[in-house]
Parts: sequence; structure tokens; C-alpha cells
Amino acid sequence: MRTAKRFSPKEAEEIYLVPYWSGGFFRVGEDGELEVTPLGPKGPAASLLEIVEALRDEGRPLPLVLRFPQILEARVKELNEAFFKAMEKYGYQGTYRGVYPVKVNQRRLVLETVARVGRPYHYGLEAGSKAELALILAQDLSQEALVTINGFKDDDFIRLALTGKKLGRNVVITLEKFAELPRVLRLSRELGVAPSLGIRYKLKAKGAGQWEASGGENAKFGLTTPEIARAVEVLRDQGLLDTLVMVHAHIGSQVTDIRRIKAAVREAAQTYVQLRKLGAPLRYLNLGGGLAVDYDGSKTNFYASANYTLSEYAEDLVYVTKEVVEAHGEPHPILVTESGRAVTAYHQVLVLEVTDVITPPGEERPQAPGEEAHPLVHELWEGLQGLSAKNFREVYHDAFADKETLQTLYDLGLVSLKDRALAEEIFYHTARRVYAIVQGLPYAPDEFEDLEKLLADKLVCNFSIFQSLPDAWAIHQLFPIVPLSRLREPPSRRATLVDISCDSDGRIDRFIDLHDVRAALPVHAIRPGEPYYLGVFLVGAYQDVLGSNHNLFGQVGEAHVEVGEEGFAIQRFVPGETAERVIEKMGFTARELTLGVERLVRQSRLSPAEKGAFLERYARELQGYTYLED
Ligand SMILES: *Cc1c(COP(=O)(O)O)cnc(C)c1O
Repeated sequence: MRTAKRFSPKEAEEIYLVPYWSGGFFRVGEDGELEVTPLGPKGPAASLLEIVEALRDEGRPLPLVLRFPQILEARVKELNEAFFKAMEKYGYQGTYRGVYPVKVNQRRLVLETVARVGRPYHYGLEAGSKAELALILAQDLSQEALVTINGFKDDDFIRLALTGKKLGRNVVITLEKFAELPRVLRLSRELGVAPSLGIRYKLKAKGAGQWEASGGENAKFGLTTPEIARAVEVLRDQGLLDTLVMVHAHIGSQVTDIRRIKAAVREAAQTYVQLRKLGAPLRYLNLGGGLAVDYDGSKTNFYASANYTLSEYAEDLVYVTKEVVEAHGEPHPILVTESGRAVTAYHQVLVLEVTDVITPPGEERPQAPGEEAHPLVHELWEGLQGLSAKNFREVYHDAFADKETLQTLYDLGLVSLKDRALAEEIFYHTARRVYAIVQGLPYAPDEFEDLEKLLADKLVCNFSIFQSLPDAWAIHQLFPIVPLSRLREPPSRRATLVDISCDSDGRIDRFIDLHDVRAALPVHAIRPGEPYYLGVFLVGAYQDVLGSNHNLFGQVGEAHVEVGEEGFAIQRFVPGETAERVIEKMGFTARELTLGVERLVRQSRLSPAEKGAFLERYARELQGYTYLED
């Protein structure tokens, strides 16, 4: 029965759009399991289900995150090589010195992998705060790699940066506002080290979509042109013009439209030219972040997508810069970008287990109403009896109106619970039949679009959106979501996802689509006793660090996995936060809490054995995982 119709792996990939968003790192295998190919489509593969099962055998609880350092490695290489290739293609005489902005993901494995793989490319790091700089200064970078300092700065931040320079690191301090200039100059005199300075230029050009406000004249960061002119005068007066080495511009994250990027590059390159004409010996043109990830695979300028590829991005940056500076006879600058999202997004997969299914009513054909039932219930029933492909609109409109009226009458005490229950059964059954009819039509009328959502199952997943997918909640970010197995079976159900937090926002009801946004995800009917896992993909950027402890759900465990010809290896497992750790963040100590419950136990009527057992359970709970464990 189950296998009456089997999908090919290709068909399954089309349903979940895998080839469009996977970056070549994921695919559907012959056995219907989702596979990771960290060395690219031609390299070795491993089934994600097998990895999850191996972790469970080791006693690791879900939810958990899988990290593939090889994917990070591939992304760092792809990024650097895209620029070197573009430079070769256009005969560019400068070079490329990318930096990874650590705010995107500061996890140890991420930072150390990026630093190690980036060494041959002189790939550097970017700090936006004192703590980030403290982290960066201790990393093993190449001598020539840049360490760029962005964000608002106090004296200590600047001292730390200048000390880094004194220690031989290629630190460039970007001025985000004019007032930082006198501060930096004063501290550099104090410390006896000349700074290397960058100026963040407030672009007229804006990105598009979520982070539009990062660019434009109203942006939070950056100097206006009059301020830049003044900064140059101040530096010239003090004989320090040669410390100004970089122009920096950043139009925001996830810039989906390549035309916006080109406009920004043109503007920034022009500023580089103008500053050189004023006598500043600029060497670096830093074009910031913004390189987008195609989360939905649509290759459009939709906010979850990008209408360009990495190589197009690199080529456009190189070409436009070259064109602008050559027109003015200035030398080709060293190009810098600060891509974060595009480097880290792919390497991380969140694995969720479905613990329950909530199905809307009306799956079974309801019973005919008895004589005593309310006349409107009879009317609903007759509508259902007469439903056909010809009259489905009218029947659905009538059924909808009857259901609403019955609900109002119920509120007034004029309809019984039993009648209302039957009415809803009939309404939902009618809606399901109408949905089946609409799906068979070549064109689905708009008014029936909501039916998919109305009739979708709710899969209860053991996780917290606020901890593990904060952007899905805060900014409606879309992430690809795919079952890890059974992909050769046609998915017979449609579902939305709900998390286990006590917050009605803790749900996912928007899914990727090539044309729009899907209201429900195609999934398989859950089989009792058989785990059903969903993978959430492209979650390696920002999600870790923005996650919060809403409802005291903690950071989830993470497994570091490598894949080779002999299969996969779980290199390391970092356990998730215990209840105690999350509680202590709120200012309590485990000791005080334990003393509190001990007092309660002493005063209780529990038997000595019960008292002991309770205190033991309490202690175990504090050491336990914060998610559902059975
Ligand atoms: C956040 C940020 C970045 C990273 O942007 P992505 O879109 O993730 O590449 C780069 N530069 C600056 C100044 C930033 O604030």
C-alpha cells in the first residue's frame, strides 16, 4: 500500500526544491534519505538520518544542530577563489583581502575553521565590539590578514585595537562617526603607535528588503561627505594623512538585487578616487557584507533569495571598481568584502523531531444530524450532500456562513455544544472535499488559497523557535525545511510546524516556494513508533547568536561531523545548556533553589523515602536538558 507510488529522488528534490537552495551540499539519496555532500556533489555523501541515529545511539538528545566544518571550508574557498578568478579575468592589478565578520557566528568551531582555512588567502576577521576583538586577537591569522574594527567605540576598544597593531596585526580602525577621529588620534599618541584608519562612508545607495536601513543618508553608521572632507583636513593638519588607508561602505545584509550592489560599489569607488585626489594614500576599498543567500532557491530579488551568483557578485565588484578608478587614473585598490551570511549559512542544519500531530476536524465523513439538530446544521449537511465540481464555490460560501452563524448563536447560548461540534465536523469535511476539487483545477481561485492553511496538520516539534530560529519569528525569514527520510514516498499530508514554547508566535507557517511563499509543508503521515525528523537548512548565519532563552529553553547541543570515503565521523559533541545554566542566567543560583525546595520538603507530609526521591529528581532536573526528553 505505502509503496504503491514511489518517487524518484529527482521528484522528491523538486518538491522540496533541494537543488535550488542546496549550494551543492545536499541531495536526496537513492534510499529516499536526505544526504549531505560537504565536498560537493561529486564527493562522498552521508545520510543525515544515519548521523542523527548514531547520535541518538550515543544518548544525545534532540533537538540538536549538525555542523559540517567541511562545508565552511568549501565556502571560504569558494568566496576567495571567486574574487581571485574575477581579478584574473579582468586583469585587475590589486588583490582581494576578505574578512569574516564574527558577529554572524562566533562559535568556536566556526571561527577556528574560518581562520585556519583562510590563512593561505590572507583572509581576516572583523570585530564590531570589544569582546569580539578580544576573541579575534587570539586567533591564528596570516600576518597580512586584515583585522577590521567597526561599530561604535569607547577608549578601551580603541586601545585594544591600537595594541593589536603594535603587536604586529594588520588592524584597521573604521571611523563610524566623526567624533571617533580625535579620540583615536589622542589614544594613538598616548600609546605611541600610528593607527591605520578607515572611513565608513554613508552611502546614498540603499540595499533592498530587510536591511534597507543600513544604507542611505539616514543610516546609523558612517560619515557624510562634509564630515569626510573635515576628517581629511584634520589628518592633513596633523601630518597624519598617510594613516587613512581604507574606505568602507556597507549597504546592509541579504541584498537581493545585484543592481543595488553595483550602484553602491560605483559610489564607494568614486569616494576612494576622490579621497586619493585629496592626497590620502588609500589602499583598501572595503565593500562590506550583503552577499545574499538564496534561501528559497528562486534566483529572484525576493527577500529570501538573490538574483545573482557568487561569481557574478565577485565579477561585478571587480569590474565596476576597475572601471571607476581607471577612468580617473588611480591605482586598483585592494578589494575587501565582509561577507558573513554567505560564508556560514550552509554549514549548519537544525534537526527537529516531530512529537505530535494536531489534525483539524473533518477527516472522516461525519454522521448525519438527528431530527433534533439545529436547522442550520441540517442546512450544512445538505450542502455537503449536494457538493460537486460545478457548485463547490456556492456550497463553500454557504457552509462558511452557516458555521459563523452557528458560532455566534453558540455564544448567545442558543446552540448546544453537540450541535456546534457536529456543525464543525461537517464544515471541515466540506472544506476538505472542496480543497480536493480545487487542487484538480488548472487554476486555483484566490479565495481558496487559505484552505491549505486551514486544513493543514500542525506538527508539534520539540524545539523553540526563539532559541533556534529567531529570524523565522522576528523577521519572517524563510529557511528550507525537509524531512530527513521517506523521500521516495509521496508526501500525503500538508502541515505547519509549532514549537513547544508557550507562545502562539512559536510556529512556522511560511515555507519556501519558487514563486511565492507556501502556507504549508508537504510531509508524510507520521507512523506510530517511528521517529520523524525534519531538517531546517541554511541556519548557520545569525541564528545561534540571536537565539534567546524564552520559556527557559536553552542552547541546543551541537555535533561536528565530517564526511569521507569511509563514511561519516562525529568528531565532537558539545552538549546543550542544562536547566541550571539557563536558570542561573536569570540571577538565581542552583544552591539557593535547592535550599528553597529542601525547606518545602521538610515541611511537607511526604514520607522520608518520598522526600529523598523528590530531592534526587529535582537535582537531576537541574542537570537535565530543557527540551522534551521522551
Ligand atoms: C553585519 C555586517 C556584515 C555582514 O553582513 P552579511 O550580509 O552577513 O555578509 C558586514 N559588515 C558590516 C559592517 C556588518 O555590520
